[in-house]
Amino acid sequence: MNNKWTKWLGGAAVVGALGIAALASSPIEAATQGRQAPEITGNRWFNTRGGQPLTLAGRRGKVTVVEFWTFDCSNCRVNLPAYERWEKKFASQGVEVIGVHTPETAEERDPKNVERFVREHGITYPVVVDEGGANWNRWNQQFWPTVYIIDKSGRVRSTYIGELHADEAKATRDIETLLREPAPRGVQAATSDTGTGTGTVPIVKVVKTDAQWRAQLSPTAYDVLRQSGTEPAFSGDYKSHGAGVYRCAGCDLELFNAQTKFDSGTGWPSFYQPIKGHVEKRTDPDGDRTEVVCARCGGHLGHVFDDGPKPTGLRYCMNSVALHFQKK
Ligand SMILES: [Zn+2]
Repeated sequence: MNNKWTKWLGGAAVVGALGIAALASSPIEAATQGRQAPEITGNRWFNTRGGQPLTLAGRRGKVTVVEFWTFDCSNCRVNLPAYERWEKKFASQGVEVIGVHTPETAEERDPKNVERFVREHGITYPVVVDEGGANWNRWNQQFWPTVYIIDKSGRVRSTYIGELHADEAKATRDIETLLREPAPRGVQAATSDTGTGTGTVPIVKVVKTDAQWRAQLSPTAYDVLRQSGTEPAFSGDYKSHGAGVYRCAGCDLELFNAQTKFDSGTGWPSFYQPIKGHVEKRTDPDGDRTEVVCARCGGHLGHVFDDGPKPTGLRYCMNSVALHFQKK
């Protein structure tokens, strides 16, 4: 194992906690401190639904922990139990730990070895393979491990470099503090995940290039969300899952409460009512049907018909690949 970091610093360093003022006196300056966190990209994800990528853009309104690591680094390994504790402690509050695996050695560069390590060490939070160090470079990263705590607006609010040890408690308090902050304007707070969106809050649009969507989405999700494709009936995940909320697979916006789901017999997930203000309707290019798109990312979700059950009489006929389910 490589001891990548302590030879430089000899102990954990905190680079400003929850503020930018602390920066001036801190021993190391993280280039991202207090600034908008750069996006996380990558094609190989572990511990996400269907290997789907996560994005920080899609996590606006929530607190996120991003940690850069590589599996054969002894200092990185010391911190792994802390990440797992955060993932479990804060899961109900929408906090996610994202492990960005930036390799240093040839062995670490093989995604199969990363996958095996994740599995054998029981890591449950999402991990992305940082191919070519793209994230490392975008974040101006310097040391393994580094932990960034990101607020609901997507800004880096505290940075911990090296082994956490006693700083785990401090970082935990940082997360708790950020959870108490209001969500930015136009973004639903994580606490509204019950799906009781009022529709009175304007939605901040997520705009990406076609290349970015291609990189983020699976081929089938891309075909539906960005090319208005339709998955074959009964091909997807259309059955009921119990209480929860269905979110956009493109931008994570909550779209439908599970209690509005019904069995339409069509082979597509069907709902009688969306979360108010979170979907938009347009006349379909065929001039006949009414298309339903996500209000945040504009992703094609399906169509709405007027043969649904009470109380609305509407049937929102969705593509399952355009949704992901979050259990309550
Ligand atoms: Zn969306």
